[in-house]
Amino acid sequence: MADPRRIARQRLESLQRAGVKSLKKGKPVAKAASAKVAAAEKPSPATTARQANSPAPTAAPAYVPPAAPTSPALKTKAEREAALDVIRRQVAACPRCPELCATRKQTVFGVGNSKARLCFLGEAPGADEDAQGEPFVGRAGQLLTKIIEACTLKREDVYILNVLKCRPPNNRPPTPEESANCREYLEGQLDIIRPEFICCLGATAAKQLLGLDIPISKLRGTFQTYRGMRVMCTYHPAYLLRNPDAKRDVWEDMKKLLREMGIELDKKG
Ligand code: SF4
Repeated sequence: MADPRRIARQRLESLQRAGVKSLKKGKPVAKAASAKVAAAEKPSPATTARQANSPAPTAAPAYVPPAAPTSPALKTKAEREAALDVIRRQVAACPRCPELCATRKQTVFGVGNSKARLCFLGEAPGADEDAQGEPFVGRAGQLLTKIIEACTLKREDVYILNVLKCRPPNNRPPTPEESANCREYLEGQLDIIRPEFICCLGATAAKQLLGLDIPISKLRGTFQTYRGMRVMCTYHPAYLLRNPDAKRDVWEDMKKLLREMGIELDKKG
């Protein structure tokens, strides 16, 4: 369930980023929000009495995803499409990140084969994706399509999605709160599709999925595991547009991934 204190703090930060200085006349945003947070944090007498008899609280543990999906796999395409549609509708009406809700044209859910063996995971929609409602359709997306085709696959063979379903203004990186807010949707999509392989495009996608704070230059080309799925991390296509020399590295990573998938480049027509 969403944490009201986290949401209050996030709402405050979003309003401040949007340039709002006060919520009411003479009442600074920080004070007003702090008062709300303090009120939310103030324990009731019953809670205080319970706490007196409880062991001292410990720090909340870091989020650790389950080792494997906990629900049975959906067998038919119709079941998977229907399940994805439920999440798609939730995303389309999602109010969790106030700044993103105020600035997005539309949400960008994901596209492709609901039984794909391979998912490509990016960071967040950009301007073109925000306008069209589909991930990876701008210049970086066209380069991703070329990479997929060089792998002798088609966009329709794979599933393409982002960590965030809404465009951050000016393409800034997602905040930790926004990524946490959207995590449930991402996990829901992956639980339905159940790809055998995920290719994380760029440092943000790798960090958000795996929880690893390792530079992408070190992480790329190595296999990681997420809930039983094999994960290859590589550079984001937008990075390749700025650094064409890195295309060679990405191709090496793709060849490694294809070998692991049992796809032989020479023999597949
Ligand atoms: S980024 Fe995700 S959690 Fe945030 S408003 Fe959009 S859909 Fe909701």
